[in-house]
Amino acid sequence: MSLSEKDRDKRSHYRPEMQAINIPDRNLPYLRTLGRFYRPFGRGIAGFTSKRFLVLMYHSVGSTKHAVKPADFAAQMTFLNEHANVIDLVALIKGEGWRCERRLVCAITFDDGYMSVHDEAFPLLCRYRFPATVYITTSALRADQNSRSDESPYLLPGERMLSWSQCREMAVRDITIGSHLCHHLDLARLPATCAAAELKGSKFEIEDRLGKVCKHFAFPWGRYTHRMLDLVPECGYETAATVIHRPLAEPVDPLRIPRMNIGPGYTLDDFRAVLEGDWDYLGIIQAVKQPRRSRPRE
Ligand SMILES: [Zn+2]
Repeated sequence: MSLSEKDRDKRSHYRPEMQAINIPDRNLPYLRTLGRFYRPFGRGIAGFTSKRFLVLMYHSVGSTKHAVKPADFAAQMTFLNEHANVIDLVALIKGEGWRCERRLVCAITFDDGYMSVHDEAFPLLCRYRFPATVYITTSALRADQNSRSDESPYLLPGERMLSWSQCREMAVRDITIGSHLCHHLDLARLPATCAAAELKGSKFEIEDRLGKVCKHFAFPWGRYTHRMLDLVPECGYETAATVIHRPLAEPVDPLRIPRMNIGPGYTLDDFRAVLEGDWDYLGIIQAVKQPRRSRPRE
């Protein structure tokens, strides 16, 4: 029996906007105007000609409710091809972006491990030779089948998941497969022993299935505690991505990589505005609103 979209949403515990920033709806024009005022102000602080180093965060690309539409994604990739340098995440956080000639320097990431990343996004990434990082929820993946995301209450409802063979196919190109834990759990609420089991278990399975060392991790919902910032490298990871909405700034903390969420329904103008910094001020509000225990360690 197939579930209606409403039932799926009700059953799902998925809260894509729980911590990630979505830009305000188009029916809140005053907030959008505020963004346009902020752009020159933000650039004024950073220096008008300074470069912007950004990590973009996607989930699914397809026709489902929470997915970025394929046509929108294609337009965004075309925009990046014309106006930005897209480089590997590790190269970006190591500061190699400074050598790029364009002002916008981006890395692309996808969370959770949806099949649409292989079917819709991967061909375009190959066409433009854009590297990307895909953080997978390892327990949701099967060898050759595409399991239903509805089997997990923490994933986007109504999606299909990647298979391990699709991961292998992408990993031989410029796609890095990282961990998003075994079961997409909230690390801010998990006892350290369970967190370590999730971190090590997912890393081990990725390495076993793909025959490559897995050094990269993304916090589910971007949530973490100070203890987790120590545990993640103890479990063998070199980088960890959050959902803190801001561009990279020196010095980059590789265990708290900020990322700009690219939500479903963003027009090309919205996408451009996020890249240009109109919505950077939302990152300040987000930092204040974060629960104390998952606030960044300063
Ligand atoms: Zn996730």
